[in-house]
Amino acid sequence: MLDLPIILLVDDQVSDLRVLGQALEGLGDVYIATNGSTALQLARKYRPEVILLDIEMPFMDGYSVCEQIKADPKLAHAAVIFVTSHQQTENELRGLKLGGADFLHKPINLPVARARVEANIKHGRAVRQLAYYDSLTNLPNRTLLMDRVSQALENTRERPARIGLLSLDLENFKPLNDAEGHAVGDALLQEVAKRLVGCCAAPDTAARAGGQRFMMLALSCQTLDDLGHCAQRVLDAVGAPIMIANTRYDLIGNVGISVFPDDSDDARTLHEHAGAALYQARQAGRGEYRFFNASINDSVRARHQMERDLRDALDNGRLEVFYQAKVNPRLHRVVGVEALVRWPQADGSMIPPDRFIPLAEASGLIVPLGEYVLDEACRAVSQWRAQGHAISVSVNISPAQFHHRRFEDMIQQAMLRNDLMAGQLELEITEGVLAGDVDQTCRLLERLRAQGVRISVDDFGTGYSSLAYLKRLPLDVLKIDQSFVRQMLDHPRDAAIVETIIQLAHALDLQLIAEGVETPEHARLLQRLGCEVMQGFWYCRPLPRTQMTEYLNAPPTTVTGL
Ligand code: C2E
Ligand code: CA
Ligand code: CA
Repeated sequence: MLDLPIILLVDDQVSDLRVLGQALEGLGDVYIATNGSTALQLARKYRPEVILLDIEMPFMDGYSVCEQIKADPKLAHAAVIFVTSHQQTENELRGLKLGGADFLHKPINLPVARARVEANIKHGRAVRQLAYYDSLTNLPNRTLLMDRVSQALENTRERPARIGLLSLDLENFKPLNDAEGHAVGDALLQEVAKRLVGCCAAPDTAARAGGQRFMMLALSCQTLDDLGHCAQRVLDAVGAPIMIANTRYDLIGNVGISVFPDDSDDARTLHEHAGAALYQARQAGRGEYRFFNASINDSVRARHQMERDLRDALDNGRLEVFYQAKVNPRLHRVVGVEALVRWPQADGSMIPPDRFIPLAEASGLIVPLGEYVLDEACRAVSQWRAQGHAISVSVNISPAQFHHRRFEDMIQQAMLRNDLMAGQLELEITEGVLAGDVDQTCRLLERLRAQGVRISVDDFGTGYSSLAYLKRLPLDVLKIDQSFVRQMLDHPRDAAIVETIIQLAHALDLQLIAEGVETPEHARLLQRLGCEVMQGFWYCRPLPRTQMTEYLNAPPTTVTGL
């Protein structure tokens, strides 16, 4: 508690206020009231540590102000120092009976007033430290934590959000403490406290709830998934080896989580539910976390598990990049390929990107994953070029990647590493991402294009299609979304949209490509409307790299027209 103390001065005489203010110069944040009711208002708002309170005031005197302050549990801790020009003993006695801490007599002796206030601040803080903090770890104790939980719940009326209460227990602490002695036990608890604090963001509170039980009030987590990650971070932190006097100790934790508003909207029940969830976690095994609510538990944990598996697959090179040809049938040529990531499973099946890209986006894993795909794609295209195939490769860029600070650098590095020439790499970016901050996007795209990268608008027509931004952004290609292509034969509206997009592209001097071309009828209509480049199952399914090499060496008749 190094923050400045808040001091409230209450006196109906402005000259006295001035003298007191002078006495306390620099001691804290000073607020001033000239009558009792303002004093109470300010006290409720700022919760002062010390109140200097004049006794003789009209309407509401100092005694009754003190009475009301002491009756309010949120203010009762304030040290009330009465200020009076009377010397009678009964006055002092009455003030002390009402809970006053001290007396100052007018005329005010400046150094004495200052010293009294300082002493009361110090005393009040020492008392609070004892009442609200754990002396071994210096963490807030359960009382203070629950106070903060209640406060956080009150604040949700203004700012609705999820609040998590985590309960952490150390499973093997007791036997260690018994066997190794209390000095080691204390050191272990202090280390756990430090690590728990390390898992907290600014608004969170870590607390020791007694014995080997810790708690955390998580206010910084936006979603249930965030809370699951937070619990895992705590378990990882606590589970990492602890060295004390050259001996290694491995603690095992379990965490139970309850969530506002899902599990409860009052502090006590939330606390109970965190305890019940902790019990479930212990039943499940060592180093586990559990949510109180079973359905939250299942969904968060399943996603969390999938995310860990994905990370593992990425680290061990088990993700694959497939390629799908883009074809110009009139010229009988393959003009490029699109890189599409795949996650092969042990049973030979593939998890499609639609299922794991959103997960990778949410967890930040998309950045290394995207870099991996980019690098693979660049390497492939440069080898195909060496074999005489003058094609380009396009790579899908998701929003989190595009906005990552290293994005530009990553593209440049991949191009350099794989010796790419201008025009060989194309980035597919969706409309929504491009439409963000148009000025900033514009400058970024200009820089990318200066490196020889082409920019393609993916899924065009499904998002925020504003002509204004299309005109301003430096773009190269529009990809007509497959939903329009799929429906254009049966629905005139979709055919009309396709035609409009094609005219738009011609007017803006952009290249065009249609995706989802599944039949020769699709291809014929697209050609008639003016779209020359096609991508779709009719020409080529996404293929592993070696098969794409074969495809390039001997394109099928749909491409060659033979
Ligand atoms: P997308 O960028 O629109 O990619 C085209 C999707 O349409 C691919 O699905 C492709 O296999 C599929 N497709 C191609 N031709 C046809 C067709 O004729 N008929 C039908 N029904 N489908 C066709 P896929 O590979 O499952 O990818 C789905 C989405 O996942 C992609 O949509 C893209 O948004 C995303 N994605 C794939 N790879 C990556 C990647 O490396 N990074 C990022 N950020 N996203 C990726
Ligand atoms: Ca794409
Ligand atoms: Ca697309």
